[in-house]
Amino acid sequence: MGKNPRSLVTTIGSSLIPLINKLQDILAPVAAGSELSKISLPQVAVVGSQSCGKSSVLEALVGRDFLPRGCDICTRRPLVLMLENRPAEDGTGAEESEWGEFRHLPEKRFYDFTKIRREIQAETEREAGLNKGVSDKQIRLKITSPHVLNMTLVDLPGITKVPVGDQPSDIESRIRKMIMSYISQEKCIILAVTPANADLATSDALQLAREADPTGFRTIGVITKLDIMDRGTDAGNFLLGKVVPLKLGYVGVVNRSQEDINKNSSIAAALAYEEKFFRDNPVYSSLSDRCGIPQLARKLNQILEQHISIVLPGLKAELNSQMHAIHAELETYGTVMESKTDLGATLLNILSKYVEAFTAMLDGNNPEMLTKELSGGSRILYIFQSIFVKSLEEVDPCDDVTNDDIRTAIQNASGARNPLFVPEVPFEVLVRRQIARLLDPSLQCLRFVHEELIKISRTCEVTELQRFPVLRKRLDEVMVKVLRDRVEPAQRMVENLIEMEVDYINTSHPKFLGGNKATELAMQQLQSPQGSRPQQLNNEKPVSGGPTRTWGLPVFIESWKASGASLISRSFGERNRSQSMPFVIQLREPPSILSVEVTEHKAVEIIVTKLLLRSYYDIVRKNIQDLVPKAIMHFLVNLTKRALHETFIQMLYRENLFEELLQEQDEFVLKRKHNQELLRVLEQSMQALEKFEFDVSSHQKAHFSKLGKL
Ligand code: GDP
Ligand code: MG
Repeated sequence: MGKNPRSLVTTIGSSLIPLINKLQDILAPVAAGSELSKISLPQVAVVGSQSCGKSSVLEALVGRDFLPRGCDICTRRPLVLMLENRPAEDGTGAEESEWGEFRHLPEKRFYDFTKIRREIQAETEREAGLNKGVSDKQIRLKITSPHVLNMTLVDLPGITKVPVGDQPSDIESRIRKMIMSYISQEKCIILAVTPANADLATSDALQLAREADPTGFRTIGVITKLDIMDRGTDAGNFLLGKVVPLKLGYVGVVNRSQEDINKNSSIAAALAYEEKFFRDNPVYSSLSDRCGIPQLARKLNQILEQHISIVLPGLKAELNSQMHAIHAELETYGTVMESKTDLGATLLNILSKYVEAFTAMLDGNNPEMLTKELSGGSRILYIFQSIFVKSLEEVDPCDDVTNDDIRTAIQNASGARNPLFVPEVPFEVLVRRQIARLLDPSLQCLRFVHEELIKISRTCEVTELQRFPVLRKRLDEVMVKVLRDRVEPAQRMVENLIEMEVDYINTSHPKFLGGNKATELAMQQLQSPQGSRPQQLNNEKPVSGGPTRTWGLPVFIESWKASGASLISRSFGERNRSQSMPFVIQLREPPSILSVEVTEHKAVEIIVTKLLLRSYYDIVRKNIQDLVPKAIMHFLVNLTKRALHETFIQMLYRENLFEELLQEQDEFVLKRKHNQELLRVLEQSMQALEKFEFDVSSHQKAHFSKLGKL
């Protein structure tokens, strides 16, 4: 700092540079490239009428001569001045450590500040012409220096009333609009500049500032040209805020006059002159805290400092949340295991967690369960309900039983038997065939659930497992084996269930339709004009009229007799036609009568058989729908679930396996180390930030108590 000729001068940000640098030092290790490293300070813009001294004030605040100034309109385009702090590299002289760069001339560094001024003028003319034209197209200039803060200053064209030169007739409203677009931004500090030789009460600057910042929390009044007021007048009342009150108050300054500019007098000389001017003036000497460029810089710095103290809690919160995230991540990498006990405990913990997760998935109380798709147990339920049960329900047992099948079955049966029992045998043959068809979907259902369990076993992999690829693989193998072993008894059970149903047809089942009812229904159907099948068979209702033991023949004969048909002729006729046995041919009845009788008789048989088929199949289907899921749940799902922990212990929890199973993936070892280091750095930064916050707030308190005294 000693080498810096301006180190003794208060410029904008000068007191904050060490503060910000310190803050950046604190945050640098943890905030490379992140939001944290970009502590953005509010920008500062100057507003006021033409030639009131805006550019002069800004220049004095930066402490370098580089802005075009003069009694004519000089600032004709907004100049956005980005200050960038860059510490001087060792061995570079003061001259080389500061330079300017224009957006419109990238890569060109201006070390000579008078050349910067010339380029501003030239660039202004390029866009806004030679003749006093004004443009809202920005000139962007970046100044890099060890002596500035990272912040932005904006020099704006002054407000004019009467168009001159190339200026359009609505110049005033255009410029106002341009100014407003800058100063209405919430993060813009407004320096409202009014010359002391004009009427403060009608100041354009103050009027615009009030429009943009009605609460006045970001407007500082600046009164220039105190040196050229009418003899005998002073700005004391203005500075005290007695004329136009302003929350942040006023600062009076004396910039270089046109004559000084022409004579090329330096900033240092100007500051010395200003200082002497205020000291010698009886009114201003008593208002020293409201007078002079250094005071204005100080005031701005306090506001910026306050801004820093406002952003500190946010930075802290950001650090905190980073620490949290890293801590959480670190936890998933587990701790370093040093002893056999550590290894055993870790293994046991992982196995238990896995079993827990597996069970939770099945029972549907996994907290991480997705809401968008079905998972775990609910998928198994879906397999049972929506796939298995539904597809069984959709099957009509008579669909693939044709009338010919029934006829053939009846004939085959009657061939070797007493023809009186004809309907019973084909029914049993056919119903067995249909029941056997239930085996395939039942086994398919078992396979679906088995596949689902394998899927569940893979989705419930606990995070800790990722660390141990060997264990992960072994666990999966064990899981696959366990499930395969469990499928066998489940399959046997399912097969048995179907076999049981095939093996014994229980025609006494209370819900079975029975021959009585079936024949009655068949007759009704035949006699009804449409001859259509009954629309609905109510299988839920037990058949009324006593035990159904007699579902077979007697009833059948009775009803048949009642219908006036001859049983003998019917049965003979049936056999004759289909089997063409020679001795029967002789007894053939006249074809016309026979065909009518046979058709009607056969029709009844077919309908009765179908009714009985449906009724019995329905009973069996319900049993299967109920029992197959139960068998799968018991033999496969629940037994697996219950025995899982024990199985794991038996197969995996072996002392001689510990080391092999718990081999950590290198990536995790590295990640853990990296995160531990990061966490340590974050903790340090946090501590430093807390201390910093404390210092800043004490400093702020000191400021305010000083302000309070004023
Ligand atoms: P801007 O148009 O508002 O940017 O004003 P400038 O900074 O260009 O200044 C306009 C003219 O007023 C220049 O000739 C300055 O030398 C002169 N000027 C600015 N401030 C003061 C001051 O405090 N005292 C005197 N005597 N002249 C000043
Ligand atoms: Mg200007």
